[in-house]
Amino acid sequence: MSEDYYALLGVEVYADDEDIRRAWRKLALEHHPDRAGTHATSWFQRLSVAYAVISDPVARRAYDRRRGIPTRPPAPPPPPPPSAPAEDAPPPIRKAPGVLLTRLSRNLDILRALGRANIGADGIIDLFLEEEEWTEGGMVSVAMRTDVHCPACRGSTNIPCRECKDAHVVEEQYSAWLAIRPGVADGTILTPSAQLPDVVTPVRFRARRA
Ligand SMILES: [Zn+2]
Repeated sequence: MSEDYYALLGVEVYADDEDIRRAWRKLALEHHPDRAGTHATSWFQRLSVAYAVISDPVARRAYDRRRGIPTRPPAPPPPPPPSAPAEDAPPPIRKAPGVLLTRLSRNLDILRALGRANIGADGIIDLFLEEEEWTEGGMVSVAMRTDVHCPACRGSTNIPCRECKDAHVVEEQYSAWLAIRPGVADGTILTPSAQLPDVVTPVRFRARRA
């Protein structure tokens, strides 16, 4: 909890929802790995986490409390009725495109252990979406290790290579970024926004309505 999400998003501590959405749209366009390339992935991940927290009123209040940010000056939106304390209020519906689906944004091994993902016989990774996830859509980031052609021998089987012990393939850490559109159909193939350069088999996912 050391990251300053407000500074990261370039908004003021008391910025309203519209300011935050505007800042996020601009940053997401600029830094999305589709546009800015693989090197932008970790930066985009940090931005997404910051936005997921700051755009969610409940998470934002908790974050502000932890950072000792004093309560906002009188807010423009009307306060909730006194009969409904904030703690008992239902979680806000996530409408913002690009919201990070945190339940699925984990290491692949963990997702498999939790039954949230499975590698199909065809090598495509099934991602089991809960109803709220496939109706609302959002971004998913899955970390995994994946095979790439050995950078030393460029995967050429003709030359002996000590780096990869002649396997000509090495494992590298990879973060797959997926955009899940609202209402995605069961069985839809999801292609990550960027693959590792020299990947042996491009990583693909399949949306499954759990
Ligand atoms: Zn090699």
